[in-house]
Amino acid sequence: MIIVMAPHSTEDELKNVIDKIEEKGLGVHLSKGASRTIVGVIGDKAEIGKLEMQHLSGVEKTVRITEKYKLVSREFKKNNTIVNVDGVEIGGSKPVVMAGPCAVESMEQLMESAEAVASAGAQFLRGGAFKPRTSPYDFQGLAEEGLKMLRTAADANGLKVVTEVVDQRSIETVARYADVLQIGARNMQNFQLLKEVGRAGRPVMLKRGLCATIKEWLNAAEYIMSEGCDDVIFCERGIRTYETYTRNTLDLSAVAAIKELSHLPIIVDPSHGTGRRSMVRPMAMAAIAAGADGLIIEVHPHPEVALSDGEQSLTPADFRSVMEDVNKLAAMLRGEADA
Ligand code: PEP
Ligand code: MN
Repeated sequence: MIIVMAPHSTEDELKNVIDKIEEKGLGVHLSKGASRTIVGVIGDKAEIGKLEMQHLSGVEKTVRITEKYKLVSREFKKNNTIVNVDGVEIGGSKPVVMAGPCAVESMEQLMESAEAVASAGAQFLRGGAFKPRTSPYDFQGLAEEGLKMLRTAADANGLKVVTEVVDQRSIETVARYADVLQIGARNMQNFQLLKEVGRAGRPVMLKRGLCATIKEWLNAAEYIMSEGCDDVIFCERGIRTYETYTRNTLDLSAVAAIKELSHLPIIVDPSHGTGRRSMVRPMAMAAIAAGADGLIIEVHPHPEVALSDGEQSLTPADFRSVMEDVNKLAAMLRGEADA
């Protein structure tokens, strides 16, 4: 069982709740977030079943949830969560598109990318300033210089910024420039990083780990939410299977699974999910048809000279054309007559 304390409950009310639990020989897991305190009850299921806590002063609600992940679950919250990033709604009625290069390479490259993706209808500029590369000898990103470029190019084109944070040290710096903090696939189970990013006061986009099950992914999101962050966005980006034709195997069934198991929004990354430019359009369409709340797509003004992931990056012209198809499909799914 978890007990959600009311936003302005007092320390005495909290103590009273904890005393009542401990009197029964049960344990307590306390999670004090910026906006609310959650008391998790640990111990014998039969004893927990007998607890009556909802009428105690300072308690907002109690929820009995069998799974280990609680705050992220549909049982905890029936209605879909809409993550509102300064007026851009992720999880609302229209798909949100984040687009831009894999890595920030220069102001010129980024400005060209931002203009292209904004004019094609994207709402977010993406781009890594800290790049978790497979080889230490590959381009590692421009760090804070890259973040500044992201902010400048996004602001000049009316876009929001989503960018990856790779370690605890750089959270504050990244949060200064980004609207949404991205946790990359390789860090999905970096629990210390998840906890700290949950305290950063920014929405978090959590990419699925390369070999993560859906339940492991949900638990990773729970780490972020348990620190007081309500705005978590899942991102399916493909998992590793025996298939080698594609870079990863894009698991679109994860979209339906997340919708069943969680109230949080989910977007899809057909770029990393396939590793192939030619497959981005069909998988983007399939993702929207499956119910995804948006897409994150790599776009580079000159993919042939990109410092990373050129082979999966769309040209601005291709991106514009994919956006037209995606928008038509989304309008059709909403039942708009002229779609
Ligand atoms: C990225 O989106 O830039 C990225 C590195 O993706 P992933 O963590 O999914 O590999
Ligand atoms: Mn990439």
